[in-house]
Amino acid sequence: MSKLQDNLYNQHTRRHESKMKLWRYAGLMLTYRCPASCAFCYYNCGPEADGLMPVDTALSAWQSLRKLAGDTASVHLTGGEPFVIYDHLAELMTQAHQQGLGRVDTVETNGYWATDRQQIVERLGYLDSVGLGRLKISWDPFHAEFIDLACIQILVETARQVLGPARVLVRWEKYLQDPVKFDRLNTAQKQTTYCNAAMDDSCRFTGRAASTIGPLCADKSIAILRSRNCSQSFLGAKGVHIDPYGNVFSGLCSGIIIGNINDKPLHQIWEWFDPTATPVVDTLFTSGPAGLLQEAVAGGFEPAQRYASKCHLCTAVREFFFDTGAHRGIIGPGDCYMGQANRLQEAGIVKE
Ligand code: SF4
Repeated sequence: MSKLQDNLYNQHTRRHESKMKLWRYAGLMLTYRCPASCAFCYYNCGPEADGLMPVDTALSAWQSLRKLAGDTASVHLTGGEPFVIYDHLAELMTQAHQQGLGRVDTVETNGYWATDRQQIVERLGYLDSVGLGRLKISWDPFHAEFIDLACIQILVETARQVLGPARVLVRWEKYLQDPVKFDRLNTAQKQTTYCNAAMDDSCRFTGRAASTIGPLCADKSIAILRSRNCSQSFLGAKGVHIDPYGNVFSGLCSGIIIGNINDKPLHQIWEWFDPTATPVVDTLFTSGPAGLLQEAVAGGFEPAQRYASKCHLCTAVREFFFDTGAHRGIIGPGDCYMGQANRLQEAGIVKE
């Protein structure tokens, strides 16, 4: 297990200054593909998205996390939707179990596949036998737009029988009691539902969420956002997400690549990560996303009057950098960005 002093940034901070936390969790995104295209996706997942994290890559990330965090290492398996590649998910968990890497803290699913009770029993029974900790079922108004409520109901009921109630999380249970009927909503009602759900669950406006929901909830001027930097977002991140291509994102900051596990093991990425010495991240660290505006505006970016949050502004600027090819290698991959044509199309769907 690593010590805080093994990190480069921590080595040059003074005693009273905040230190980079040790990464103790890794969300392994096995694919960007997903049968849904939720407006609130932190990435840009959907049926056309792709990517498949090889089993060996996932295992090496897992082993490396254990070098960093020892027995406190916590892995969750996610996507996209990991059940679109169920056999791959099962193979990964089987090999991890054989190697003694410990339990998977959580497998996340949107439940689209849960139509046959016998298949649910078989799949969850198998995953349980190879180290499944908890099943997390994503269910909120954004998922309700794409996923059949009947799938969620049968999955929740069956999973609680197979795994026990304590090992089945529904995010969020309140929407199970009072589901949103999207097909009965007009555009204005849909927008209100999106906004209320986004505010209720204090979700982050990154990825598709920034382009689709952000403008509907935008109430903060750039002057206000100038006071918000991201030092604590990077120093305080308890873990990372790793995408199918090995790109590492700090915490929930999707689309800002701070390393790639195909180039360097995860524990070494943590050891060498100094947010004050990484391009783009250094500006975010000291000045927040407003610090990126000068460069973006000089290149032709036209800021909106208001943004929903600093992450909304951050993603808007990064979308511009992505479109114009700026900061390649840090701003990416394309799976996290909508691209201009898609943004305009989505804006037409969610705006009147
Ligand atoms: S503004 Fe950008 S860097 Fe800062 S926390 Fe949000 S997504 Fe991360």
